[in-house]
Amino acid sequence: MLGSNIHLVRIGRIDRRSSEEYGVLHEDIWYPQDVNRSDIGIESFFATDFDPDLSTGVNLAEEEFRWLPPIARPGKILCIGRNYAEHSREQGKEPESEPLIFSKFSSCMTGHQSQVEYPPHTDNLDYEVELAVIIGKEVKSLQTTDDVWDKIFGYTLANDLTARDVQKSEKQWTRGKGFDQSLPIGPLIQTADAISPPIANNIWLKVNGELRQSSKTDHMIFSIPYLIRYISQVITLQPGDILLTGTPEGVGYYMEPKGVLHSGDIVESGIDGIGNLTFTIT
Ligand code: MG
Repeated sequence: MLGSNIHLVRIGRIDRRSSEEYGVLHEDIWYPQDVNRSDIGIESFFATDFDPDLSTGVNLAEEEFRWLPPIARPGKILCIGRNYAEHSREQGKEPESEPLIFSKFSSCMTGHQSQVEYPPHTDNLDYEVELAVIIGKEVKSLQTTDDVWDKIFGYTLANDLTARDVQKSEKQWTRGKGFDQSLPIGPLIQTADAISPPIANNIWLKVNGELRQSSKTDHMIFSIPYLIRYISQVITLQPGDILLTGTPEGVGYYMEPKGVLHSGDIVESGIDGIGNLTFTIT
């Protein structure tokens, strides 16, 4: 049993008995949490020291629940384009001199083990495994990166699914990256106290068992503190906001021959110490 005010936990959200439920998964037991859900639901996790209630746990049987995105309605989902040098090079582009920022929406999110419907506006659906940062405290106009790690609540996995042909043919990326189910995310948020900065963890993705992406999260061009400080100059980050930190090399579109996704493909991904995220294209 964990003691009082100990974080070091993995927090998720599931649909069980037709209702949404936050909980902590600890040693394979699910402990439902009463978080007084507000718009973003998980908000009260941040309000004070989160003291998980581990008094009543259940064994989750696979057929009794499905995973939901771990934050119901984040205020913002900000994403960084081309934040790994090798991913820039595979597109024939020089690495960016400043972060390239775009956004996704709450409506893009879908949970672990989702069936993702092939979107109708593309035939070049592509995968991008990414480390997602969950903001824990308000961040506004940071002058230095000194205290940035303290502003982070935790980390999870995300996939920045992209209609690559649409992204390349339009100046804005909203249709190319903002469509329904374009953001598989989760299943669990690993609280930040379990992950020591700077984060240098293996990040990988497989399609139908074939390894496509394999890198380390410290290969980012712009580090997590740099990104948060940079964004905070013009956008105030709030608890529950999500930051996608970019994908490493190995996306399908630039493979020879092309390795974009098709109906029936199973996409598995993982980041050491944070978790695994899987979904299927239908
Ligand atoms: Mg991306």
